[in-house]
Amino acid sequence: MKRILVTGGAGFLGSHLCERLLKEGNEVLCVDNFFTGRRSNIVSFINNPLFEVMRHDVCFPLYVEVDELYNLACPASPIHYQFDPVQTTKTSVHGAINMLGLAKRVRAKIFQSSTSEVYGDPQIHPQPESYWGNVNPIGYRSCYDEGKRCAETLFFDYNRQHKLRIKVARIFNTYGPRMHPNDGRVVSNFIMQALQGKPITVYGKGHQTRSFCYVDDMIEAFIRLMATPDDFTGPVNLGNPGEFTILELAEKIIKLTRSKSKIIFEPLPHDDPTQRQPDITLAKKKLKWQPKINLEDGLKETIRYFRKLAPAS
Ligand code: NAD
Ligand code: UDP
Repeated sequence: MKRILVTGGAGFLGSHLCERLLKEGNEVLCVDNFFTGRRSNIVSFINNPLFEVMRHDVCFPLYVEVDELYNLACPASPIHYQFDPVQTTKTSVHGAINMLGLAKRVRAKIFQSSTSEVYGDPQIHPQPESYWGNVNPIGYRSCYDEGKRCAETLFFDYNRQHKLRIKVARIFNTYGPRMHPNDGRVVSNFIMQALQGKPITVYGKGHQTRSFCYVDDMIEAFIRLMATPDDFTGPVNLGNPGEFTILELAEKIIKLTRSKSKIIFEPLPHDDPTQRQPDITLAKKKLKWQPKINLEDGLKETIRYFRKLAPAS
């Protein structure tokens, strides 16, 4: 049995990861400041004797004894990470320093949830890990993008300087049950709007693309990455290469929910990337992994979850 720390463990991805690690018989310590995380995400396993929750902000040092550490703490939705941008950078940078320091003290293996945002508005398509990105350092998204880039730098310096065992995942848009209904991300927004019969808010012309990965596929990749030999550090792209325009996503969700909602167009947010698709050649090779759940099936599961939360229109 391993003792595993998951920061951001009450969030969307973190709660699924905690659940999976518990199922495998590990002891799990969930550390979260509940900024976007919710008790309801962890309620189904909160009484498991192998599970422990601690309210703590990763911007402050933490002293615990663990064998492995997954660092997921950081708001992921643009609305939430732009709410207090200084805190967002602190969470990524001070959070990484504190968690790397902890991992160094106890010689734990440490996983970083980095992001496709390190590629910014990419000029290479699809994006391989070797691409250095096209990121605005002073824009509205920079607190998140540059915070995550700096965290990657710290991870690789701890690896080179202190021989720390690191695993860096660049996560592309992931969706599924337990996303916050008011999270502001596109899948949750569109499903909530469709279920409530409200207009579907497509930003810009909706021609921008994203590649959407279902949460179960993503958690499987996390586990496989953590189990790779020590000389494999990443960064490795994790995501579903299926690429869709935002307009296509809106139409799909209207069809699957049988909603009467109409699409409306709203201004495109600052620095909104025009296209995004992971090149997952490396993940296929090193993790023997590729997503299995297609967008339609993943959306059906996610719609089922949101139906329980949203009053019918
Ligand atoms: P989320 O907002 O649901 O979860 C983030 C969790 O971190 C929440 O529980 C929040 O309360 C917690 N948190 C935030 N600041 C904290 C702090 N200072 N101290 C302690 N806890 C803190 O988002 P998510 O989608 O589950 O994302 C998890 C991780 O994966 C994030 O690091 C995010 O950047 C990364 N990621 C997610 C996606 C995606 O599509 N879901 C894509 C790329 C990267
Ligand atoms: N988007 C949209 N309507 C919404 C929410 C988002 O058209 O109600 C668009 C957004 O402009 C972006 C894409 O959907 O082009 C994905 O947005 P999200 O916030 O989910 O994640 P991002 O990949 O931009 O971080």
